[in-house]
Amino acid sequence: MRARVAVVGAGIAGLACAHHLARAGAHVTLIESSDQLGGLGTFFDYRGAALERFYHCMLPSDRHLLALLGDVGLEDQAYWKETSFGFMHAGRLYPLNTALDLLRFGPLSVTDRLRVGATGLWGSLRSSRGLDDVTCEAWLTALSGRHAFETFWKPMLQAKFGDRYRQVPALWFWTRFNREKGGRKETKGYLHGGYRRIAQALADGVAARGGQVRMRTRVARIDLAADGRPTVQAGDAAPEAFDQLVFTGPITALEPLTAGSRLAQAGRLPDAQIDMQGVVNAVVMLRRGLTPHYWVASIDPEVPFQGIVESTTLIDRAETGGVHLVYLMNYLHRTDPRFARPDDDTLDAYLAGLRRMFPSLGQDDILDARVFRSPFVEPLYSVGYQRRTPPIALVPGRVYLATTAQVYPEVTSWNGSAGLARRVVDQMLAER
Ligand SMILES: Cc1cc2nc3c(=O)[nH]c(=O)nc-3n(C[C@H](O)[C@H](O)[C@H](O)COP(=O)(O)OP(=O)(O)OC[C@H]3O[C@@H](n4cnc5c(N)ncnc54)[C@H](O)[C@@H]3O)c2cc1C
Repeated sequence: MRARVAVVGAGIAGLACAHHLARAGAHVTLIESSDQLGGLGTFFDYRGAALERFYHCMLPSDRHLLALLGDVGLEDQAYWKETSFGFMHAGRLYPLNTALDLLRFGPLSVTDRLRVGATGLWGSLRSSRGLDDVTCEAWLTALSGRHAFETFWKPMLQAKFGDRYRQVPALWFWTRFNREKGGRKETKGYLHGGYRRIAQALADGVAARGGQVRMRTRVARIDLAADGRPTVQAGDAAPEAFDQLVFTGPITALEPLTAGSRLAQAGRLPDAQIDMQGVVNAVVMLRRGLTPHYWVASIDPEVPFQGIVESTTLIDRAETGGVHLVYLMNYLHRTDPRFARPDDDTLDAYLAGLRRMFPSLGQDDILDARVFRSPFVEPLYSVGYQRRTPPIALVPGRVYLATTAQVYPEVTSWNGSAGLARRVVDQMLAER
């Protein structure tokens, strides 16, 4: 008989797990609380165009994601462009893509520029050994010096972790640096029709293999039945038993879902207290582009976001209804008062910040803007995180985890989640 498997969450991790399980012959029930597939990769409608709430792109090295695209026949829909990075300092925009750009980077002294260059080179040559046990701040300061850390590296860490950057291990930085730059020309990719096509193709494949996709169904409880099989309860429905279950929502949601359960009593839950960073992100639709760069890092105490992604430097504007798209992001913890600020106030502050950075930006240039927030984006890593990474199997043969918290030291991304999903499903099949 076909194994009945529940997959909780239809972000890319859940979709990829469901895809592999269905292809291996399981009867899959994919359960998603929201009304959209894709988790953080969901979208909103803007004048008939489907725009992403949070920007996404892929890299040529994203082999797990590219393999998934191959599985669902979308590999020829990916397109690639050379992209670039800029750094805004004291109102001036510096391109930072080549050794020459670094040598011309005025905010640093010549000695600091050389030290930053040597840090990058050393980072691309050395192995990752030991880097999980030292913070980025300590490692980069030792290599580049305090002034270069404060002026150059810190803004980039803040652009990703906000004020929680201090504990982040050097291993996180090393992996990211080598994924994105690693001495090669920066190239990024996108998919005709957007990331929602990937999500839809994966879900369609599951349904075509006899699986079920249940949308708008929030799982309220995960437990074990008396016979050891995992159960899932949603709303007022009775618990439903499966042969296996994989949970793919944020790790912080697991404890409330399982409080007092047999699973928790059996001491099967990961004991690591992992917290997650969130994001408050504005999408601005513009009449004109701002810079030639995909990403511009900027730390200015007067500007309420730490970076700008101008996604239409990559994405074809035929996909965006012709508008230029700029994402302004501020990574914040969900308890920060700015996280709960009303959208209108957030937008006013963000747009004022954008005009401060680009004084020539007129009111007419701004066509529209929206705010999106997510409380759970990425774990707040701290030294030794690799040893505390939650296990794949909570109950071998029965209950599994495929969450963003397990992707480290790979970068949290669709590729990272796709790779994790492959490992999780391989283990589920082996332990069945
Ligand atoms: C601003 C921003 C920019 C990013 N840029 C990129 C990028 O350029 N490239 C890239 O590859 N990645 C990028 N990422 C990261 C990427 O979006 C994530 O790594 C990835 O989407 C995580 O997928 P996931 O399936 O693990 O989790 P999620 O996407 O969070 O999916 C979890 C799903 O589980 C569902 N769920 C949770 N609890 C329950 C429940 N109780 N019952 C039912 N369903 C539940 C949720 O509704 C959600 O759909 C970005 C993220 C952000 C926020």
